[in-house]
Amino acid sequence: MAIHGYDTGNPVLRYSKALGLETKLLPASSGTLFTKDGPIDSNLATKIRGNLNAAMSHMNNVVSQSSSSDTSPVADILLSPSSQLYAGLSESDKPKATALARALEIGWGIPLEEAAAHWSGWASGVAFAGSDGIIVGGYGKLAASLRSAAESTGKATFTLSSRISKVTLIDDTIECRTSDGTTFLGRATLSTIPLGTLKMLPQDFFDPPLPVRKVSAVSRAAVGVLEKLGLLYDSSWWDHAAGPFTILLESGTVLAFPISSSPPCLHVLVPHGLVGLPAHEIHDILAQAIAPGKIVPQPSKVLSSNWKNDDLSYGATSSPIKVGEGRSPLDFAEVARPAWSGLLGF
Ligand SMILES: Cc1cc2nc3c(=O)[nH]c(=O)nc-3n(C[C@H](O)[C@H](O)[C@H](O)COP(=O)(O)OP(=O)(O)OC[C@H]3O[C@@H](n4cnc5c(N)ncnc54)[C@H](O)[C@@H]3O)c2cc1C
Repeated sequence: MAIHGYDTGNPVLRYSKALGLETKLLPASSGTLFTKDGPIDSNLATKIRGNLNAAMSHMNNVVSQSSSSDTSPVADILLSPSSQLYAGLSESDKPKATALARALEIGWGIPLEEAAAHWSGWASGVAFAGSDGIIVGGYGKLAASLRSAAESTGKATFTLSSRISKVTLIDDTIECRTSDGTTFLGRATLSTIPLGTLKMLPQDFFDPPLPVRKVSAVSRAAVGVLEKLGLLYDSSWWDHAAGPFTILLESGTVLAFPISSSPPCLHVLVPHGLVGLPAHEIHDILAQAIAPGKIVPQPSKVLSSNWKNDDLSYGATSSPIKVGEGRSPLDFAEVARPAWSGLLGF
């Protein structure tokens, strides 16, 4: 996991340093674009990437100048025949540009057809971006260090693997009850239950119930689908320096990061359209694209997420605003607002 906006002020960098953790800036690399049968000519790849950037900034400018909450999906603008996405491309290269645009769906977790163009670029303008860094040894070190720092104050304790099944306001106290019947009492509670799970909680999970305005914002805000796959090999079969590898397919774009050469490991982001495909088929897609015509080793170990079906997440990504139902970024503000006179935070 990366620290996005490493050199543009992401406070995680400051916290990491204060906790004595080693961090480093990752080299900026856009990597290599592939079709299913091999690498794309580098001039064409540069052209398609430039077209996508131009088409996105054009769309973001146009929608930010529009006063009405137009209900067009991103696909209608970005993939329209007159889009800058296709400027100067031959008919045979246009599908490659479409597939690269669909790479946006990896992070969004929803199809371009469902994302509201009106709010396109609204969040990215305030998000940390531009440069990525890492905590050497993994992001888990930050969580572990924060935990020890909190425990060393003598004021914090951590209880893990304990599922909250009910949160009740009793006078000025909040009771959190776990599924094994243990109760925790507090003057205030901060719920970090993910949005996907929040959507599926029984109505009486919070007692008194959450305000209807909040419940409807929770139901309107979208959670997208994305899964991760770790493919480990006994020997490396790719050019580490050429990564990350972006494979443009009709059914969705796959992004593979060569995160380690010892052991050789590809870290793959599987977009919503390809979720459910067995790991060996994803491996075959990568092998055919990155090393066409070559025999490559099969993965010796596979690690995969299942966030879509996991009842502790029910999805993975905070999606852009979807079209319809009067949705707007205000939904996220409403979801994040405290309830119960400020005693129950989100
Ligand atoms: C594929 C992917 C890549 C990402 N990459 C980056 C990155 O590079 N950099 C970055 O900064 N961010 C990244 N993110 C985003 C980052 O992971 C999230 O913003 C972050 O994990 C959110 O933290 P959280 O504590 O709010 O929620 P979560 O991490 O979702 O934690 C919520 C916890 O609540 C638990 N829970 C659910 N229900 C209950 C219950 N009833 N009782 C008790 N516990 C419960 C869940 O098990 C979970 O452990 C990425 C996300 C994804 C999906």
